Amino acid sequence: MPGLEDLYREIILDHYKNPRNRGELAPPAVSAEGHNPLCGDEIQVYLLVENGTVSDVRIAGQGCSISQSSASMMSAAVKGKSVDDVRKLVSRFKHMMSIEECDSELDTSVNLGDLEALQGVVKFPVRIKCATLAWNTLLEALESAHA
Ligand code: ZN
Repeated sequence: MPGLEDLYREIILDHYKNPRNRGELAPPAVSAEGHNPLCGDEIQVYLLVENGTVSDVRIAGQGCSISQSSASMMSAAVKGKSVDDVRKLVSRFKHMMSIEECDSELDTSVNLGDLEALQGVVKFPVRIKCATLAWNTLLEALESAHA
């Protein structure tokens, strides 16, 4: 019987080998770029927001398996969601990836699904920035979508 860690490793590898939503989007889509100099990861997030909903998302860039699979999972998780729900998901994910005290404002009804596969990364603090890079870049893109 494969353990949970094997299952998580499989999910991460699958997203790394078959990244979802790869590519770019032309304006009016907005974009943001993120870098993680510690590891050399680069992520570009393209976001099309229509009527308060993330109607399309594309990911470009390169880097380690954690950064790229996290970006792929993020793209699959936010596509079609309302901007409000995306923000909730981002805080939930970032909370999972942090060792900080619990935020009482946190909406625990948000379902992380496959994203839970990345929680093992917390054991390797150096890799946390790899896992959160796409999410911080997504937040930046969201900001420009509202500008
Ligand atoms: Zn990395």
